[in-house]
Amino acid sequence: MGFAVTTSYRAAGSPYPDEAPVSQALFDRAKGIVPGGVNSPVRAFQAVGGTPRFMVRGEGPWLVDADGRRYVDLVCSWGPLIHGHAHPAIVAAVQSAAALGTSFGTPTEGEVELAEEIVGRTPVEQVRLVSSGTEATMSAIRLARGFTGRSKIVKFAGCYHGHVDALLAAAGSGVATLGLPDSPGVTGAAASETIVLPYNDIAAVEAAFAANDDIAAIITEAAAGNMGVIAPREGFNRRLAELAHANGALLVVDEVMTGFRVAPGGWAGLEPVDADLFTYGKVMGGGLPAAAFGGRTEIMSRLAPAGPVYQAGTLSGNPLACAAGLTSLRLADDAVYKRLDELSATVGALTSDALNTAGVPHRLSFAGNMFSIFFTDAEVVDYDSAKTQDTAAFKAFFHAMLSRGVYLPPSAFESWFVSTALDDAALEQIGAALPAAAAAAAATGGATS
Ligand code: PLP
Repeated sequence: MGFAVTTSYRAAGSPYPDEAPVSQALFDRAKGIVPGGVNSPVRAFQAVGGTPRFMVRGEGPWLVDADGRRYVDLVCSWGPLIHGHAHPAIVAAVQSAAALGTSFGTPTEGEVELAEEIVGRTPVEQVRLVSSGTEATMSAIRLARGFTGRSKIVKFAGCYHGHVDALLAAAGSGVATLGLPDSPGVTGAAASETIVLPYNDIAAVEAAFAANDDIAAIITEAAAGNMGVIAPREGFNRRLAELAHANGALLVVDEVMTGFRVAPGGWAGLEPVDADLFTYGKVMGGGLPAAAFGGRTEIMSRLAPAGPVYQAGTLSGNPLACAAGLTSLRLADDAVYKRLDELSATVGALTSDALNTAGVPHRLSFAGNMFSIFFTDAEVVDYDSAKTQDTAAFKAFFHAMLSRGVYLPPSAFESWFVSTALDDAALEQIGAALPAAAAAAAATGGATS
């Protein structure tokens, strides 16, 4: 496979202690003035317990925390960093852009170049740049409603599309991780416009259209990555497009996570789909805040100032974000995707082998090079089946990996992400940590004999 671990598993070595005093002191300071001590919920380690690590530096495949410990990073900033941390070309591009000024509030050539790069790689004809995935999906939903003149949105349980009111119902990611009910603050009126259906269930979509004649759009993750990773069943996305169009609705495919990570053109490059709008984020910002939504000119031209649907942003198309994003995308050639595929297969197989050896029931679930481990022996096809997993086993596994220098998503309901920077030393560190982590998961009681 080319990137297999080159040496056998090391002995467990000297794992880092569970206490992380400098991170803990920073967390204590933060908790007084920042709700929960973090600026995005899953960072708080609430689902796994313990002290969230405050990072000071990233170097290729490594993260370095405030206590001076090095971790192999399998989170990659929740997806964006396909080239690893502090890639020299991306750092140089941001430095050059910053030297020219950080924001102008006017159009710039960089925005045109980034838009051209996205349009060149994807099915979209026109694209609008924004600063976060949440803005992208929020705007796509508004545009779909403006275009169709209808109000209802179909979404799937366990899919996460950012913290947009209408899309928080039965959301994945942090909402799933924290086991929250639908969020207070979302009005009944907003919630009543959202129809939540089980993922991968076409019959439920057919029934929803039979019962409702004012559905503006279906929104789906191109492949689900926010309830753990669950690939769409063969033909699921295609059938969604057919059903939407047969009923006068649009299909919005959310590629914020998959876009430019799984293939040059995103999931649509692996499995073409006749969607009306797509949303992008993460990789296209190269680690800076940039996101986008796009689609056919007929629909996109309804956006202000070309049309009446309003959407705007002070920092949209920010020059630093465009420079980082453009460099990140231009670096992402076919060889990069081949390497991401190989590396994710390697890490997934190493993990699964270790869990098998320890007798821990699990499912290794891929969508392109995104993957996660479900600690269950049940087939996982949707949010209900994802929730059958043994989160206590994950928690033990997570902490055993962390204390051996491997940083996993601190939630059983998130994708693991690899970068091309993962080298043999990083893979060896993962390989060395796995047997003890698998044994820790087994010791929680879920192991089979
Ligand atoms: N859509 C998907 C599929 C995501 O995974 C995310 C974030 O993880 C979002 C939208 C929201 O993006 P952001 O966190 O940039 O607002």
